[in-house]
Amino acid sequence: MPTTRNGAFHVRIKRERAIPLIMSPVPGRPAPIEKNSGMNDTEIELIDSARLPTRFGDFTAHAFKGAHSGIEHLALSVGEVAGDDVLIRMHSECLTGDVFGSCRCDCGPQLELAMEKIAAEGRGILLYLRGHEGRGIGLAEKIRAYRLQDGGLDTVDANLALGQAIDARNYAFAADLLHQWGVTSVRLMSNNPLKAAALEKAGIRVNEQLRHIVPSNAENEKYLATKRTRMGHLLD
Ligand SMILES: [Zn+2]
Repeated sequence: MPTTRNGAFHVRIKRERAIPLIMSPVPGRPAPIEKNSGMNDTEIELIDSARLPTRFGDFTAHAFKGAHSGIEHLALSVGEVAGDDVLIRMHSECLTGDVFGSCRCDCGPQLELAMEKIAAEGRGILLYLRGHEGRGIGLAEKIRAYRLQDGGLDTVDANLALGQAIDARNYAFAADLLHQWGVTSVRLMSNNPLKAAALEKAGIRVNEQLRHIVPSNAENEKYLATKRTRMGHLLD
């Protein structure tokens, strides 16, 4: 891994506004608010790395901190990751799904599946992207959107009703982490075509997009259908 003179690992990112990928098209509604300006970090610094044995296998945990936002991210790696065809997952933080086992989404089982696959392959990277909660709108706004969904809106219309972007996530800094690690091409575990496009745009070749499908349940069937029909996710 490249380091600077003082041993710190800096990731320099072109200054780029985190323009939501999809803006609210509804006239009269407030414009989506850029609440996660931390995702615009121009530098991300490696704080430290340590062994992280898990029930899925042995990983190395790398803690990063956004130089401007102070947002802390985590990457878990297995094996030598420089080079081609690295198996990766860019997992957007989801407290309710990842930690509390929420059945409203598919994040928790997707996170576990990614860790299982990387451990089994013996080489790969899981980037755990904090600040991506609720597709970038934040935890409290996600809970507000859930309340609107309890009233009948789908996940897209709920975000729009709150004046939020449908998807405000930015992957630029994640791509730069991969550059710094010497990753030249990846096999991306994701159903979301926007993630693959974001990596390609940032100069990381996506050799393969591996569908990352976990069993649905009665609570998330409508959510998954909305991701398929309104957000283009590859869930068939
Ligand atoms: Zn989730």
